Amino acid sequence: MKASLRWMNVIGPSSMRSRSTSFIGLGRMGHEMAYNLFSKQFAHANESQFVVCDAIPESAQRFCSNFVKQYPGANINIAKTPEEATRASQTIITMLPSSPQILSVYHDGIIPTLRKLPADQAESTFCIDSTTLDVDVARSVAKGVAEARSQMVDAPVSGGVTGAKAATLAFLVGGTVTGFKQAQPILALMGQRIIHCGPSGAGLAAKICNNLILGVQQMVVGEAMLLGTKLGLDPAVLSSVISSSTGNCWSISVNNPVPHALPEKSPPCERDYEGGFATALMLKDMGLASNVAALAGCPVPLGQAAETLYAQMVEERPELAQKDFSSVYKFLKQVMEEGKTIKA
Ligand code: NAD
Repeated sequence: MKASLRWMNVIGPSSMRSRSTSFIGLGRMGHEMAYNLFSKQFAHANESQFVVCDAIPESAQRFCSNFVKQYPGANINIAKTPEEATRASQTIITMLPSSPQILSVYHDGIIPTLRKLPADQAESTFCIDSTTLDVDVARSVAKGVAEARSQMVDAPVSGGVTGAKAATLAFLVGGTVTGFKQAQPILALMGQRIIHCGPSGAGLAAKICNNLILGVQQMVVGEAMLLGTKLGLDPAVLSSVISSSTGNCWSISVNNPVPHALPEKSPPCERDYEGGFATALMLKDMGLASNVAALAGCPVPLGQAAETLYAQMVEERPELAQKDFSSVYKFLKQVMEEGKTIKA
């Protein structure tokens, strides 16, 4: 079937809606997650309907074409808007950049549509949001969904694009116990670990705390590797020493920022920092941590210093914004070589 035929009315009878899943946001993560979810759902129940939606129509089109090529009998369609995706499916998954997109998709699209649905359809609708966004925004959206008679959990992920592709993601779930139990079998098709962190917003709180550590950790590893090499150490020797000492962490032993420092592994620095977790996304997550810390009245001085440095990096070297955030090492090296100053 030609991909262009997929621009069709996705709204079927309500019996179809109960067998339909809509996935909104087919970016680097969402594309892989939706692919795993739909292919496993299709293998299990080939009468399922799949609906995809993205602000960039070509992304949805490309997803459909690839999926139909691999699963010729699959009933997969494109929703032009979140409203259409909501009318089409009982299960709705969102994987968008951050708070502004979630506010727009839920408050302008999903929630008003849920309010207009017949009671039985609204009550059976279940939303899972895997975006990393502000905790208070996630809570306000979940409240809006509940007021529209539907269920929602926040389920941000850890594991990156590689984990999304391999379906080995960890999902950090915030919501009721009932919501968590409902989400579990769906999330199990896209990941390996599904952890109930607490009520609405708790999954995000856990994710933001983890990334606060990660953002600072990757930066200090960059500093230590730069200092060590400046002092004449071989990066591979230094990495091996730290990996077996108290400084060991993911940023040194897996995501090491110095080419050839991990001879057995292939971190993003071996590909000029392509792939991995974009610096722009890390900057966003550091901002989420300072926002929520300010609201909670909790000091995060190292997090704020790291946020300032990532912001300087993206401003002065915009080409590093989409590279892996371990490229902070490259930025620091350049600052050193050019005798510039650091703002943080
Ligand atoms: P991305 O920018 O690649 O994808 C976002 C997608 O959302 C894009 O396809 C975009 O077109 C679409 N979109 C934006 N606004 C939309 C709207 N209004 N309606 C419909 N679609 C819209 O981002 P990503 O890397 O896939 O990350 C998604 C989320 O996952 C982010 O919150 C990120 O912080 C988090 N995350 C990413 C990684 C990673 O390694 N990339 C790891 C863990 C968590």
